[in-house]
Amino acid sequence: PSAMREVALEVPKVRWSDIGGNEDVKQKLKEIVEWPQKQSAAISRMGVDPPPHGVLLHGPPGCSKTLMARAVASETGLNFIAVKGPELFSKWVGESEKAVKALFAKARAAAPSVVFFDEIDGLAVKRDSSQGAGVSVGDRVMSQLLTEMDGLVPMKGISVIAATNRLDIIDTALLRPGRFDRILYVGPPDEDSRRQIFEIHMGRMPCSHDVSVSQLAEKTAFYTGADISAVCREAAMIALEENVDTKEVTMSHFETALGRVKPSKWGTK
Ligand code: ATP
Repeated sequence: PSAMREVALEVPKVRWSDIGGNEDVKQKLKEIVEWPQKQSAAISRMGVDPPPHGVLLHGPPGCSKTLMARAVASETGLNFIAVKGPELFSKWVGESEKAVKALFAKARAAAPSVVFFDEIDGLAVKRDSSQGAGVSVGDRVMSQLLTEMDGLVPMKGISVIAATNRLDIIDTALLRPGRFDRILYVGPPDEDSRRQIFEIHMGRMPCSHDVSVSQLAEKTAFYTGADISAVCREAAMIALEENVDTKEVTMSHFETALGRVKPSKWGTK
């Protein structure tokens, strides 16, 4: 337990409406995570097998994988325990697999809960060279994770969500039935989604009437959600640089911001 004290338990406050676009992903997450928690009686009445409890979100950085995981926990009223794959090695040297065990113990104690593994590919590729040809730390952590996943009883209140930018390097053992057997692609936003994302991030900004969200959405092909959030922050800073007493952000501030914040190159990895 000592190793895991550092992993914060929280009830995140992210609403579905804080996420622009990817409606199909939201719907799937509801089915996989929310229904078993809230409609377990209905599901068993219909005689269907319990839905899978492991979901893998994949897609380019900055496109709302983490937001999705937090939102489904938040909207369902579940506790949320997040850990980054690589942290399991760096923070708990020598006791990484104990850390995985403790993580799931904590999730069971906090049930109903969501365990979120960000950068899960960091588990799959980590190899401890000091150990030569023996079983690596990565292998031991992985096998502990698989043991924990296999031991989860469906509908007993723990869902596991993992995220990666690199589906191609994920250990396929993780993707077998009963483990992360639901794979959802969280892609970059289309124009309509970009409009929504601008609206979300402008929510608390005093914008002038000349700001055209549709034009901004049109001009930001290839921008991720994180890029759009950066554009909005930048526009506000530009307005302040120009005049610290300003009360609003104008379209021209946004246009200057677009010149400074370029899209992440998610398509050209
Ligand atoms: P990474 O792979 O880098 O961890 P991610 O896919 O998990 O990225 P998030 O951490 O969810 O991305 O998104 C980063 C930030 O970008 C969010 O906190 C939010 O401000 C903004 N963002 C990304 N996508 C959206 C979206 N669809 N709607 C609103 N904001 C978004």
